[in-house]
Amino acid sequence: MARRVLIAFVDALGSEQLERFGGALSFVPHRRALTGVLGYSSGALATVLTGAHASEHGRMCLFAQRREGDDGLLKPLKWLGLLPRVLHERGAFRRKVAQALASARGLTGYVALHRVPPKDFEWLDLPEREDLFAAKDIGGVPTFLSQAREAGLSVYASPWQLPEAERWRHVHETLARSQPELTFLYAAEMDGVLHAEGNDGQAAQAVRGRIAGELDRAREALLRGGHEVLTIVVGDHGMAEVSRTIDPRELTSKLDARVFVDSTMLRFWGTHAQLGRARLLAERAKLPGRWLDTSALRERNAAIEGAPYGSALFVLDEGVIFAPSFVGGRARGMHGYDLDARSARAAIASDAPLPEDLRALTDLAPLVSRALGLAARGAAA
Ligand SMILES: [Zn+2]
Repeated sequence: MARRVLIAFVDALGSEQLERFGGALSFVPHRRALTGVLGYSSGALATVLTGAHASEHGRMCLFAQRREGDDGLLKPLKWLGLLPRVLHERGAFRRKVAQALASARGLTGYVALHRVPPKDFEWLDLPEREDLFAAKDIGGVPTFLSQAREAGLSVYASPWQLPEAERWRHVHETLARSQPELTFLYAAEMDGVLHAEGNDGQAAQAVRGRIAGELDRAREALLRGGHEVLTIVVGDHGMAEVSRTIDPRELTSKLDARVFVDSTMLRFWGTHAQLGRARLLAERAKLPGRWLDTSALRERNAAIEGAPYGSALFVLDEGVIFAPSFVGGRARGMHGYDLDARSARAAIASDAPLPEDLRALTDLAPLVSRALGLAARGAAA
C-alpha cells in the first residue's frame, strides 16, 4: 500500500477551537462538526479509537463505582485521609501517589487521583487500566490501531505518557527513519491550557501555533518520497467559557444517595427513593441543568451495564461548573455537558473531502478502517 494514513487526535478541538487556528491548519481544509459523546475524554478517546458508544466500550468518565467483589484497586488510598489535608490534597503529592499505584499494580492507562476525597476511594474504581493506544480492545471492542497491527500494517502511535515536547521529539525521530502505514498522533496540551485560561488566552494562541507546526512537520515527513497521505485531524469535544461556578457542598451534604462530583455533573447511585430525593434536592436548589435517568442515558447511548458511572446524572447547563469538585477547582474553560451543547461536539478536518455520512465521533474509526482497507467493525465476515 503506497498510501499513508495520518490521524492526529487533538484534545479539546471543537469547531470554534479549530477556527481559532486561522490559516495555520490550511493543509486540512475539509471540515465538519461531529456529534460527541456524554462524559469526558476517557470516554471520547475510547469512542474515537473503536467507533463504539459508551454503552458498548464501557468508558465515560475517569472514575467509576467499583463492582462488587473486584480487586478494590483504589481502596488502600482511603488512608490518605489520615494525612493532613494540606498534604494529601496537594497536586504534586497526589501525582506521586498515582505513579506509585500505577507501578505497584502494573497499570499502563491514565492514572490520576485529582481531588477525590480519601473516604470515597473505598467504593471507586479506575476503569482505564491499560494503555489505550496499545490495547487490543476497549471493553471488548477492538481499536483501529489494534486492527491495523493485526492486519500486518506498520503502525506508529505517539506515546501519550511523555510530556508534550518529548512526545513530539519522539514523533519526529520516528518519522525521520520510517514512514508507517498508519500514524496516530496525540496532542494533549491544548485541553489543559483552555481549561486554565479559556479559549482566547495568550497561552492558547501559542499552543495552537505549536500544534499546527508539529502536525505540519509530521505530515511533511510522511509525504517524503512522493507518498500519498490521507490526513485527518480530529478532536474529542470543544471547550465552553465558564460563566458560573457553583459550590456543590450544601447540596451534597444533604444527600443519602452515593454521589461523585465531576466538574459538570453529579453522578448518583442509590435506591429509587434515594435517587428521587436527590432529584428533588437538585430542583429545590435550582441547579441549572438536567436530570438524566436511565432512559435519558439510553437515548444518549450511555446506559452501561451495572451503571458504573451512576444510575442517574445531573448535568449542568453549558458554561456552569461545580467547584470544588472531586476532579478539580475553578476553571475558565470546561467541557462535559449534554450532547446538544456546542462544546460537546468535536471537530474533524481533512485534506480529503469528508464522506457525507460522517456525522458523529463514532463514524471516525470506520472511516479509518476503510482508508486502511480493513474490514469495518460489524461488517459481515
Ligand atoms: Zn479537558
